[in-house]
Amino acid sequence: MAKDKCIMCGKETAYDFETHIDYRTGYIEGAGQLCATCYTQGTNRNHIAVPEYIIEANPNDLELGGKIRELYWQSKK
Ligand SMILES: [Zn+2]
Repeated sequence: MAKDKCIMCGKETAYDFETHIDYRTGYIEGAGQLCATCYTQGTNRNHIAVPEYIIEANPNDLELGGKIRELYWQSKK
């Protein structure tokens, strides 16, 4: 059976499409299913802005990820 995907991150959740919402945790009516990680994040919806030039200057996704994490930690100082 196909698993429902998380509406926040797109990962597969623990629930089948056929599972009734009364038997699920993290289902938001009108929106959809959240995975356990996104559900436990709760109302923590903080974001950081990534300048476009950083994305354009880093064609390698791994390096781009590193730059974004660097920005993230800088924002925490
Ligand atoms: Zn998720």
